[in-house]
Amino acid sequence: MAVTKIAILGGGESGVGAALLAQAKGFDVFLSDRGALKESYRTTLQTAGIPFEEGQHTDDQILDAAEVIKSPGIPETVPLVQKLKAQGTPVISEIEFAARYTKARLIGITGSNGKTTTTLLIYHLLKTAGVNVGLAGNVGDSFARQVINDTFEYFVLELSSFQLDNMYSTHLDVMVLLNITPDHLDRYGYSFQNYVNSKFRILQNAQPQDRFIFFQESQPILDELAKRNPTVKRLPISLESSVMPGGYFQNGILTATYNDSTFRIALTDTPLRGPHNAINTLAAILAAKSVGVSDNALTEGLKTFQNAAHRLEPAGTISGIQFINDSKATNVDSVFYALSSMEAPTIWIAGGQDKGNDYGQLDELVRQKVKALICLGVDNHKLVAYFGRTVPVLYETQSVVDAVAKGLELGQPGDTVLLSPACASFDLFKNYEDRGNQFKVAVKNLMMNNQ
Ligand code: ADP
Repeated sequence: MAVTKIAILGGGESGVGAALLAQAKGFDVFLSDRGALKESYRTTLQTAGIPFEEGQHTDDQILDAAEVIKSPGIPETVPLVQKLKAQGTPVISEIEFAARYTKARLIGITGSNGKTTTTLLIYHLLKTAGVNVGLAGNVGDSFARQVINDTFEYFVLELSSFQLDNMYSTHLDVMVLLNITPDHLDRYGYSFQNYVNSKFRILQNAQPQDRFIFFQESQPILDELAKRNPTVKRLPISLESSVMPGGYFQNGILTATYNDSTFRIALTDTPLRGPHNAINTLAAILAAKSVGVSDNALTEGLKTFQNAAHRLEPAGTISGIQFINDSKATNVDSVFYALSSMEAPTIWIAGGQDKGNDYGQLDELVRQKVKALICLGVDNHKLVAYFGRTVPVLYETQSVVDAVAKGLELGQPGDTVLLSPACASFDLFKNYEDRGNQFKVAVKNLMMNNQ
C-alpha cells in the first residue's frame, strides 16, 4: 500500500517540527516554503532526508497530499490553500497534528494580548511545583518536535488565532481566554465577529469537567458566551467584583478560588506590575490550581518568575529617570494597560506602522499621565494629529537614540520614559525585538555617558 503523504506549507519552527514528526510517524513528507528557509532549518531537513523546496510552491507536489499542515503565517486566501479547500484536502495547523501524538494533558492560552506572559507564567508555576511539563505553541520549540518522544505529562500551549483557525479535534483540559480586542482584522475580512469566532475555537471541544478561565470584563467575551453558553467549568477573572470560584484583584491583592480552596498574594510580591498583569497572573494561578499545584508552590513560583523581554521591561535609570521597554505593545489595548501601570509622570515614546489604530481609548490616561510624547516612526501624522492638542510637549524623530536622549532631556528625577509604541515596528526596525533591543542599547549607552 502506498504511504500516506503529508505536505507542509511553511518551513519555520512549526513546519520543520511537523515535518520531523510526520517522518517519525511513517508518512511520506514534502515541505514547501515560498520564501527562503533559515540555514539551520534547511540543514535539519537535509540531515533528516526530508524532501523540500524553497522560493516557490509546486502545486503538483502539494495537491496530491492526503493532508496539509499550514504555517499560521500563511493566510487562508492564498490560491494554493483555496485550491486545497476546494478539492476537500484537510488543512490543519501544526498544533492539531502534534496533538494526535501526545498523551499529555493540554493547557491552551489565547487572547489578543497577554498570551506569552501568561503562557510562560503557567509553565513556570507548574515547573516550580515539580510537574513534568513542556512549553510550546508560539514560544520556543515547536509542539510537533517535542511530541516525537512524548515524555511530558502536561503541555502549556500559546495559541494564536491563526493556529486556532486550523484546529479541529484537539482537546484542551484547561482553556484560557484573556481578552478580545481588534487585531489582525486584515486576516479576518475586516470583521471583528470573524476574529471573535476564531478566538472561541479554543472552546470547540470543551467537556463539562474542563476548565475555562476568562476575563469577565471583556465585553466581546461576555457577549459571545451568552450566545454560545458552553458546558464547561467556568472560572471568571474580575478587576471589579469578588468572583468565586475564579479570581479577582482588589486593593492590591490577588485572590483565586478553585474547588473551595482560596489562594491570596499581593501583586507586589510577584515580579509583574499593572492591572493587565493582575489578570494574567490570576489566569495562571487558576490554571495551576486546577491541575493540582499547591499554594506553597504557587507562592514560590510567583516570586521567582521572570517575564520575557520587551514587556514592560525595566531598561535602566539615569539621573532618577526610569526607562521602560514595552516594545511588544504593538496595539492600542496593550498601551492602555502600560499607561495604566505607570505611577510616575510619563514621557511616552510611540509610533511605527499604524494598524488602523483608534486612540480614543487612551484619552483619559494620556491626559492624566503623559507629560510629553515622542513620536518614533516614519509617518507620525496620525499620532501628531490625535495628541497634538492634548499632550503638552510633542517631538518627532526617526532615531531611537535621539528618542532616548530626548526622553532624558525632557524628564525630571522620578519620571518614567516609556517605549510603548501601539504600532508595528517594520517601518524602522526588523521586528519588535529589534526595536526593544535598540532602545535598551541606547539607554545603556546614555547611562555610561552620564556616569
Ligand atoms: P501576546 O503574546 O498576546 O502578544 P504578551 O504577553 O507578549 O502578549 O504581551 C504583549 C503586550 O500586551 C505587552 O506590551 C503587554 O504589556 C500587554 N499585555 C499583556 N497582558 C495584557 C492583558 N491581559 N491585556 C492587555 N494588554 C496586555
